Amino acid sequence: MSATPRFRFAPSPTGYLHVGNARAALFNWLEARRIGGEFLLRIEDTDRERSSSDLTENILESMRWLGLDWDGDIVHQAEHLDAHVDGARSLLAAGQAYWCDCTPEDVDGRRTDKSASGYDGHCRDRDIAEGPTTALRFRAPDEGTISFDDLIRGDVTFDVATIEDFVLLRSSGLPVFLLSNAMDDASMGITHVVRGEDHVNGTPKYLLLRDALDLGRPDVFAHLPMLVNESRKKLSKRRDSVAVGDFRERGYLPQAMRNYLALLGWGPKDDVEIRPIAEIIERFRLEDVNPAPAFFDEKKLEHFNAEYVRALSTDEFIDAVTPFLDQPAATLEPIRQMAPALQQRVRLLPDAEPMVDFLHLDQPVRDDASWEKVMVKNVDTARQMLAAALEAFGEVDWDHEALHACLLAVGEANGLKLGKAQAPIRVAVTGRTVGPPLFESLEVLGRDATLGRMRAALDALP
Ligand code: GLU
Ligand code: ZN
Repeated sequence: MSATPRFRFAPSPTGYLHVGNARAALFNWLEARRIGGEFLLRIEDTDRERSSSDLTENILESMRWLGLDWDGDIVHQAEHLDAHVDGARSLLAAGQAYWCDCTPEDVDGRRTDKSASGYDGHCRDRDIAEGPTTALRFRAPDEGTISFDDLIRGDVTFDVATIEDFVLLRSSGLPVFLLSNAMDDASMGITHVVRGEDHVNGTPKYLLLRDALDLGRPDVFAHLPMLVNESRKKLSKRRDSVAVGDFRERGYLPQAMRNYLALLGWGPKDDVEIRPIAEIIERFRLEDVNPAPAFFDEKKLEHFNAEYVRALSTDEFIDAVTPFLDQPAATLEPIRQMAPALQQRVRLLPDAEPMVDFLHLDQPVRDDASWEKVMVKNVDTARQMLAAALEAFGEVDWDHEALHACLLAVGEANGLKLGKAQAPIRVAVTGRTVGPPLFESLEVLGRDATLGRMRAALDALP
């Protein structure tokens, strides 16, 4: 038993970091942080053709964005290839592996269940010499069982008769993923192997290799439940939107995303779902993860995001929203003044731009449906209100409370409730019937611009 528990996240840079991987990284990180362990990062880049440094960069970037900091230097699996080859050759020397020159067609249709008669054992007894087309195969035991205790699934047992003599080194000379994976976990001193359930079926081979190489076993395995979409289908890269970077671009906050991911297969006992990460770390228990598939519910994620946007300070909100605004720096000050009102309405960060575009455009973007409804269908009311408010707004103190009281009075004088009375003003100034609170918007826009737009709208009425 090593003193410090060691966790690792071991992504393959053959695609962007997707939410399933991010959840695996997060659960490793949460448990490691809670129990004072280390959280290491290993890039499984042995598949030269499918791996790329851009994808590695994407994975690191997404992890940084989510705040999943790792300990120590990043381990690149490809740098250990020689050690993996040596490991495979030591098994050959010990008689636990042999060369095989079967083609895929030869192997196709062959019985691999050793308990059945007719099992041919690949080239076990053919004494093939190493050559340009030979692969090195592991001599898997013929009978017995291999088990491990999974923290989430309990006892998992495989009949070794179902495990064929699998390849260790391909004919290209390169080690297979399982060998590299098992050997690196050992050389890195990993005590806790926490990963997706798609790796359960590879675990007996992993253990056979660790045993054969005399590398000991990790203390803990935990295979996390898969993520499914609303039709209960496994989340797929093709069908579903799954890259963490896409969520970032669509205006999710990393804190909201991280909080939401923590609840995919786990939940705190008090059912308080939205809470600071320090509390999540404190409450998280890997052994409480539910093995059933977890529904990745984007609606719920969006709701989390809205909550997190609301809870930001003004400075944090401005920092978060700025990359999503199409605004000159000069309008950031007015936006800052409106921040609390905007934060109540923004669910995803890009929602903010159409709420504040009136601040920097010479002419508001005219939403045709809004114009039609308020300025055309109700043209008499619009004319009456714009004319009356133009007059009243010329005198009023320019702050939202005074503007509110003023328009209320003008509306009453014209027999209109506030909602009806303010619609033409809103459409004149912002172009739309919906948006941030009107009087705050007018206050921030200023008297001259407001009156100018109201006059222009009045002139444009049919
Ligand atoms: N590289 C593997 C993957 O991305 C991870 C294997 C593991 O966690 O053991 O699926
Ligand atoms: Zn063979």
